[in-house]
Amino acid sequence: MINLIDDLKNALGSDIVKTGDEVPEHQHTKDFALRGVRPFAVAYPRSAGDVSVILRLCNQHHQAVVPQGGMTGLAGGAVAAEGQLALSLSRMGEIEEIDLAAGTMTVQAGVALQTVQEAADRADMLFPLDLGGRGSCQVGGMASTNAGGNRVLRYGMARALILGLEAVLPDGTIINNLNKMLKNNAGYDLKQLFIGSEGTLGVITRLILRIFPKPRSVSTALCSSRSYADVLAFLQLSNQTLAGALSAFEVMWADFYEVAQRSQKRGLPLPSGEPFYVLVEALGGDPLSDKEKFEGLIARALEDGVLTDGVVAQSLRDAEAFWALRDSPGEFRQTYWPNTAFDVSLPIGEIDDFVEACRDRLRSAWPDVNSVYFGHIADSNIHIVVQLDQKPFPKRAIEEIVYETVRDYRGSVSAEHGIGVVKLDFLEFSRTPEEIALMRTLKLAIDPHNILNPGKVLGDVSS
Ligand code: ZN
Repeated sequence: MINLIDDLKNALGSDIVKTGDEVPEHQHTKDFALRGVRPFAVAYPRSAGDVSVILRLCNQHHQAVVPQGGMTGLAGGAVAAEGQLALSLSRMGEIEEIDLAAGTMTVQAGVALQTVQEAADRADMLFPLDLGGRGSCQVGGMASTNAGGNRVLRYGMARALILGLEAVLPDGTIINNLNKMLKNNAGYDLKQLFIGSEGTLGVITRLILRIFPKPRSVSTALCSSRSYADVLAFLQLSNQTLAGALSAFEVMWADFYEVAQRSQKRGLPLPSGEPFYVLVEALGGDPLSDKEKFEGLIARALEDGVLTDGVVAQSLRDAEAFWALRDSPGEFRQTYWPNTAFDVSLPIGEIDDFVEACRDRLRSAWPDVNSVYFGHIADSNIHIVVQLDQKPFPKRAIEEIVYETVRDYRGSVSAEHGIGVVKLDFLEFSRTPEEIALMRTLKLAIDPHNILNPGKVLGDVSS
């Protein structure tokens, strides 16, 4: 290992790598889900060329490397294990180009999401991907985890927002796939190997992101419904009426709404006690006609009886109050603790049956368990938070029940957070043995020495 560090410093200069006590204590040790170990060394490349040299040398030394972005992941995918070298993209934070004709922004992988959003905004454009970690999460990490977030329904996940990228393979080969064209069927779509593979197949160094005209209007409403069938009817009506402008359709089950109101400082926009609440949002291009169309949708849904109540936000403050309910899990540490949270997806039509089954199975294991359900239903994604006053907290047993129920309803154990290490044991609940075998074949073909983020997504691939 001494040789490797010397080789790195000789090749790229002494400030390219920090070792031992020079490694910042917290910055490289944990993400939002998991505390790992402090890497014995961290490399800070300034370019794809540097990344190439670092990986080539690590590959020669059979040194395990964990790529790190903003450390806001929710699955432990960027957390180091014993003896691993971290590769931090933090010095590669430049925005290189905005091309309005192509509708693209070319960026280095270490730029923060918020910086990208602000740069698009200054160009009177929108980079639509948005999530809570925006201030620190980096676009390279967002790409390698195929991040989702709040506007997937309208604009897609990270995968749909990336036209091209540059990535470095474990042997140091630089793959230039910096495509700007929406249509390009010349052979395999290689960027997809690196998007969502959580840094196990290559290190993304540069991205061509899609940017869009900025919406001129936002319409938001909070509504209630009597049944899940009515919620689905409202979704269909919203899609028809808003014709592509629908940007959020967040459903909250009654038990979630009960817990959410505990942390609200202002009065509730709608009284509690209804079986379902829906936060619906549309982004449009014409403030006057958009408002009319949106209010018409809510009125029609009330008339048809698919909604029992509904309030349309008359100000930004109103809209923020609606979103505060939906975002209340941020406060659950104070109001609903101890708990464990889940990010899963299911076929839309079966979500409510799944919720009932999951709630029942948890209750039969622990009579006084609580569980709440909410999420981006139109993306088939729901989040679950399970709370139980028990010491020690039976996290693993709760996970088994929830993921087994997901498996029984043919859902996915990870909708938007990835597998990392925290969901390793449950990958097979959502993927067939043949699919997992193909993933291993790809991994070993591209990374035969298994140096790149080993142990993540697929676990041990050497056996
Ligand atoms: Zn979510």
